[in-house]
Amino acid sequence: MGDLFRDLREDRKERRRTLGVNCPRCADVRPKAHPSILLPGQRCRVDGYRDPRPDDRQALTGEPG
Ligand SMILES: [Zn+2]
Repeated sequence: MGDLFRDLREDRKERRRTLGVNCPRCADVRPKAHPSILLPGQRCRVDGYRDPRPDDRQALTGEPG
């Protein structure tokens, strides 16, 4: 259980590192703050911008979340 949770966290960190992009709207809305990091299909919590890329995670596994 603990190992699985850790693996999931590591996987998320890896995805964030490889697929994450700076939210382009954050640069306009809050130019002095750090922009949100968005994964494919993720929505920015600050300004509502949604990354237009398809969610590769769902394509790979067929399971949401
Ligand atoms: Zn944003």
